[in-house]
Amino acid sequence: MREVQRPSVWGPAAWRVLHAAAEASDAAADGGALVRRAVDAMARELPCVHCRTSLADFWALELGIPSASWAERVYHLHNRVNDKLDAQALLARADAATKARALAAGAARGKRLTFEQVQSRARAERARGRPPVAPWEARVMLDAIGDPDSELAAVVRAVTGLASSASAPPVGRAVTDAAP
Ligand SMILES: Cc1cc2nc3c(=O)[nH]c(=O)nc-3n(C[C@H](O)[C@H](O)[C@H](O)COP(=O)(O)OP(=O)(O)OC[C@H]3O[C@@H](n4cnc5c(N)ncnc54)[C@H](O)[C@@H]3O)c2cc1C
Repeated sequence: MREVQRPSVWGPAAWRVLHAAAEASDAAADGGALVRRAVDAMARELPCVHCRTSLADFWALELGIPSASWAERVYHLHNRVNDKLDAQALLARADAATKARALAAGAARGKRLTFEQVQSRARAERARGRPPVAPWEARVMLDAIGDPDSELAAVVRAVTGLASSASAPPVGRAVTDAAP
């Protein structure tokens, strides 16, 4: 695996793309078209088979639960992946008794941000002029994907363009000059 394809490298940027897609879907009231497109592309094309499988499974669960917004749905999706990774990390280093207790308790994660805290942090970032997906984050994703003609690369460019420019072309068209 190339270094740029490690989940620890592209993961934070991919989350920025998904959270930004959800915010844009909410703002456009598009019935989730953009965020669904982003999730579908990631579930097919992320360079990590376990990530693709988890995403498809967790998203199906999320779609079955009523939610106030797409942003909130992606917040819960992110937490599901966090919980999976925390449980894996705990089980990898624990002794047998700790593992049994952790499994019985659901291997729960420690402190986590509430949805309100996540929203408040996003507002503070916007006030400082930070785009939902920075150009360097889009580049990290595009490097990890490798194929510039893939649907996921098109989604990254579209979300980056949507997120950083009010005059971005409509979703569904590649924003070739928006990528860094
Ligand atoms: C769809 C998807 C599936 C993935 N599946 C796997 C997998 O199966 N195995 C694997 O090893 N890696 C997976 N990854 C990568 C993994 O989720 C992390 O991105 C990576 O481990 C780096 O973690 P991190 O600690 O930098 O924080 P990240 O989880 O990348 O989070 C980045 C930022 O988001 C904030 N954040 C945390 N939770 C939330 C939330 N609920 N809402 C909003 N913001 C939040 C954090 O404070 C942090 O600042 C996946 C990534 C994606 C996008």
